[in-house]
Amino acid sequence: MEQTDLIVCRDLSLGYEGQSVLTHLNLCVRGGDYLCVVGDNGSGKSTLLRGLLGLLPPLAGSIRRAPELERGAVGYLPQQTRAQQDFPATVQEVVLSGCLNRKGLRFFYTAAQRSQALMNLGKLGVLELKDQSYRSLSGGQQQRVLLARALCAASRLLILDEPVTGLDPAAAQDLYKTLNYLNRREGMAIVMVTHDLRPALRDAGTVLHIGHSGTFLGTPAEYLASPYGKRFQEAAE
Ligand code: ADP
Repeated sequence: MEQTDLIVCRDLSLGYEGQSVLTHLNLCVRGGDYLCVVGDNGSGKSTLLRGLLGLLPPLAGSIRRAPELERGAVGYLPQQTRAQQDFPATVQEVVLSGCLNRKGLRFFYTAAQRSQALMNLGKLGVLELKDQSYRSLSGGQQQRVLLARALCAASRLLILDEPVTGLDPAAAQDLYKTLNYLNRREGMAIVMVTHDLRPALRDAGTVLHIGHSGTFLGTPAEYLASPYGKRFQEAAE
């Protein structure tokens, strides 16, 4: 593993109860990378994220993670569920809960964690919402708050699963702009599963397509020139 490598997958197979969903995957995520994971429904995109997060052990091959990721340098934005949308807490409480895995045995949040939570709300342009109830917010505002929460955990890597699902196009564009800012300006590595191919191709450095008929890994330009990308272009026309 090189010093800048965050996650290295070698000949990786992932699946459930001995049944593989993904096989023979080679992938390297380095500091500052922006990787978009696209592909057919049920092809294994969320499964891959679970593997990268260390929640699912490999069936074969290996996943090596930089030691700093074990110490909590990774933030995760899961797919939103209805229950989460109704979460009865203030915005500030939701964001602070992102610091939980750094709280250790202390019962109270530290002043530094509180100021980090506020700083992340500011960074995402939703500081003025801090005392509002999370469930009273719009979908776009909720997603920004969850991103601020993930940033409390992340110093090197953000992993996002379909972050714009349910957002209107303007809110989705805003979220992509923010991700771009975090990636370009702050050097945050991003791994994002998305159905939304246009921004993926505009912003990402690497595209991983997982399909029932095979996988593809390359730059956005290489992806568009591949049979998978050609299919996408035809569908968009
Ligand atoms: P995607 O995110 O690309 O839509 P998933 O990774 O969610 O696909 O699912 C890939 C396959 O793994 C599907 O066939 C799905 O039914 C199966 N699967 C997902 N989660 C589980 C689980 N917890 N147990 C067993 N099978 C699962």
